[in-house]
Amino acid sequence: MTMLNVNARAVLLLNASYVPLKSITIRDAVDLMMRGVVDAVDGVAARLRTPRTVFEVPSVLRLRYYVNVPQRGAVWSRRGVISRDQYTCVYCGVGAGGERKGYRVRRVDFTVDHLMPRSKGGGNTWGNTACACRWCNHRKADRTPHEAGMKLLWEPKRPRTNYLVADGDIPDEWKVYIRV
Ligand SMILES: [Zn+2]
Repeated sequence: MTMLNVNARAVLLLNASYVPLKSITIRDAVDLMMRGVVDAVDGVAARLRTPRTVFEVPSVLRLRYYVNVPQRGAVWSRRGVISRDQYTCVYCGVGAGGERKGYRVRRVDFTVDHLMPRSKGGGNTWGNTACACRWCNHRKADRTPHEAGMKLLWEPKRPRTNYLVADGDIPDEWKVYIRV
């Protein structure tokens, strides 16, 4: 169970098993290529010019040898909760780009709601937090969903294995390997 942050303006590094490990910089990608430990998989992240030739850095690289990654619990974060719930309110179901009373809902309108409020001992855990629109969050206030008479549309859970949080516009060639 790992949660990784990937940055779209870089190179996606896959394990030999094709499981995504992390995003790396162009510089690190070139370094791995020079050491001969990776194979190009897909796409072009950058073209570097040398006096004689143009050197293409792939958008997706794969390690030639399997790296054993310690399996840890996915680390909780606010951004992780909102990504897990895909910018959808757990109470009213509105999503980013959706409409609420004539207002176009944007990503910034989403917050992390603590089912059991922190003031009542609720913690920052995957099971106690969910994405909520700011209007539902405001309405629920410092109460449990039950106290507020609000129903959850799904039960918040710890993300599945290799859940990735993607930042920015994800290159198409990455989408086969990560969930966005
Ligand atoms: Zn809502």
